Amino acid sequence: MNILVGAAELAPFAKVGGLADVVAALARQWAAMGHRVLVVLPKYRMIDASGWGFQPIEPSVAVPMGQTVEYARLWLGTLPQSAARVCLLDAPHYFDREGIYGNPEGYPDNDRRYIFLSRALLELAQVLGFSPDILHVHDYHTAVAAELLRRFYRQTPQFYKTASVLTVHNVAFQGISDPARVLPLLGIPWEEFYPGALWEYYGAVNLLKVGILTADKLSTVSPSYAWEIRHTALGEGLQGVFSVRGADLVGILNGVDYEEWSPERDRYLPVPYSAEFLAGKELNKQRLLTEWAGLPEAEAQAPVPLLGMVTRLTDQKGIDLLLHVLEPLVQRLAVRFALLGSGAGPYENFFRYLASRYSPQVFVYIGYNESLAHRIIAAADFLLMPSRYEPCGLTQMYALRYGTIPIVRAVGGLRDTVRDYDPISGTGWGFCFADYTPEALFGTVQYALSFYRAEPHWERLRRNAMACDFSIRRSAEQYLQLFEWALEKVRAERA
Ligand code: ADP
Repeated sequence: MNILVGAAELAPFAKVGGLADVVAALARQWAAMGHRVLVVLPKYRMIDASGWGFQPIEPSVAVPMGQTVEYARLWLGTLPQSAARVCLLDAPHYFDREGIYGNPEGYPDNDRRYIFLSRALLELAQVLGFSPDILHVHDYHTAVAAELLRRFYRQTPQFYKTASVLTVHNVAFQGISDPARVLPLLGIPWEEFYPGALWEYYGAVNLLKVGILTADKLSTVSPSYAWEIRHTALGEGLQGVFSVRGADLVGILNGVDYEEWSPERDRYLPVPYSAEFLAGKELNKQRLLTEWAGLPEAEAQAPVPLLGMVTRLTDQKGIDLLLHVLEPLVQRLAVRFALLGSGAGPYENFFRYLASRYSPQVFVYIGYNESLAHRIIAAADFLLMPSRYEPCGLTQMYALRYGTIPIVRAVGGLRDTVRDYDPISGTGWGFCFADYTPEALFGTVQYALSFYRAEPHWERLRRNAMACDFSIRRSAEQYLQLFEWALEKVRAERA
């Protein structure tokens, strides 16, 4: 199959969260299965294109934006260790800026930036002579390309048979903007803007809604989240829209690229380890505690449980629960706590305060750090993810492979990947709580801690965790099945 992918993030080039990891892992997997994959990504300032081996090519791409045409240079390269091709869209006026989306509020012209990406996706496929079977778009950033395909491109020989699939990673981001700005840019006449129309959403334009209603097939990143966005407030106002497309919507659990995330061959770990050599995990913990937290060797070896977190510091991740729970945890249960994260200022300040007040029991790194992410996930005994909502969540799946026991709120993908440990049968590999309250979180951590080094449970828990298989291969195969359904749908519509 020829698969054209458009996304706002792609690891290792440009990453904010799980979206980057999953788009890269899928592309790599499909390429390894023999499919031709082309991923299109904006050339953000942070990407050292030449350093990653990208080459600029001729000609540039011309992108219709309303009454005018804008141009972008194209750079071609590949994903590291993969045959999947990557095309960087070099439009400095949109993308040569700090970061990806512009924190914390987002750049005011994000609508325009991502409409440009969506339109360029279809135009550059023509420049490169890439005739896709599937156009795979992700989140609001490229969702509108599904409608652009249907409306402007499907009659061309290049896209005659192309089916579109939209994957929704997070419904909280919808690309809502002023119709006076975006309709002319997209070439949509005003007659099509009226209550209840595709282009209208409470007096605005909602790019995600347009994608949901017009992509041939839809997916989201876990079965539970697929249900939640149709039936609960987690649909963020789009419950009805998702329900209209219910028959075309599936939940495909994200997967892990175990080449990147396995304790046996993790290049960031001082000591590689496996289920057969769990002493290696202890050594990683000691090294983290001495090297990063500055603990003396004897103290680092003490059997004190270490709770870890690697996360964006946003409301989604349940940080407000931690504001209530962390101090009592540290004071009363004498745990150690390590956090790597960045995000909302008040949350960052809270963790800075905590680190200064409880040093060296609590250590915190505010910022983005790939190597530290791997080291914390390997070193921690437990990983905390008390999310308010979680479309899938990758970090808990990484933790499982590293024998780090997840303590999670049972929501979305966390519910689908973490099974409660049952001390009677010795099954399960984590601890879940349902209510979004500090008491539920505190009680569950306390319960989980009762198994720390308590044999035979501790050994069983870790072995069960490490035996979980959430490989990206399984996800990639399920996407291919979905792509087949999308192609069938397009063929049936043509007939
Ligand atoms: P989300 O996509 O909602 O942020 P996921 O759990 O799906 O959550 O994915 C988060 C990804 O981002 C993981 O790969 C995690 O290791 C990484 N990550 C999050 N914050 C940081 C950080 N501060 N430094 C390094 N990696 C981070």
